[in-house]
Amino acid sequence: MSQGTSRSTLAYGTLFIVSAPSGAGKTSLVRALLGRLGDLQVSVSHTTRPQRPGEVDGVNYHFVGVAAFESMIERGDFFEYARVFDNYYGTSRPAVQALLAAGQDVILEIDWQGARQVRAQVPEAESIFILPPSREALRQRLSNRGTDDAAVIERRMRDAISEMSHFDEYRHVIINDDFDTALADLESLIRANRSQLARIKERHAPLLEALLSHGKGVE
Ligand code: GDP
Ligand code: ADP
Ligand code: 5GP
Repeated sequence: MSQGTSRSTLAYGTLFIVSAPSGAGKTSLVRALLGRLGDLQVSVSHTTRPQRPGEVDGVNYHFVGVAAFESMIERGDFFEYARVFDNYYGTSRPAVQALLAAGQDVILEIDWQGARQVRAQVPEAESIFILPPSREALRQRLSNRGTDDAAVIERRMRDAISEMSHFDEYRHVIINDDFDTALADLESLIRANRSQLARIKERHAPLLEALLSHGKGVE
């Protein structure tokens, strides 16, 4: 992906990495964010985990078998991939490249192992870690979500502690206590990234040219 995401191309999108322990609210926050900002897409990961009730293949994830996932690894189709909770999860390289090349900002909802792989390839990627307000709240959210049985919830609670121990590898951290506050924090991070000088120069070259050129309609 290193050449594919280089900033040498005009109006390339930015990658935003969002990680959190399962149940901290990253999927809900990202979904709400999409309703508030344009030119923003979420990458749809491939996974070998079983589909949950209500999940749609190709929308929430691309659900594939282990053999299919492993042949994608061999073909180099993944921008990053990792094993999380005994399942494989991975981000398709061509899918992300196509979105960035179309000038879309892309959110990757991935774990800390995947985040490391992305940072190594795209150092300018923005990274955000979402924490729950307490362990009890995390357990309550996993249980309220109603998608996982008790054994799965216990496994996710145990893994949450090791996932959270990587929070300090991220540039930004948001505590998802009040949902609307966390959503506003996330939105402002993306808006701030978009207002950086380098991005404005890249995206708004014609406007800058028109504003700064001499001679036309100034005097
Ligand atoms: P949820 O977080 O409770 O909704 O559970 P999921 O089963 O959707 O995700 C499980 C874990 O896999 C999370 O830590 C995600 O961040 C991670 N994950 C999801 N997609 C990807 C991916 O494409 N790559 C990597 N590396 N991790 C992923
Ligand atoms: P993740 O994608 O990180 O696993 P979800 O977005 O699925 O987390 O959220 C887990 C559950 O917690 C969902 O039922 C969601 O509606 C709920 N939730 C998310 N954020 C909050 C919040 N700030 N307060 C209360 N419940 C929340
Ligand atoms: P869930 O199975 O609950 O949907 O996701 C569990 C975890 O898998 C989440 O913490 C999520 O961040 C991670 N995950 C989902 N997709 C990917 C992916 O494509 N790559 C990596 N590395 N992790 C992922």
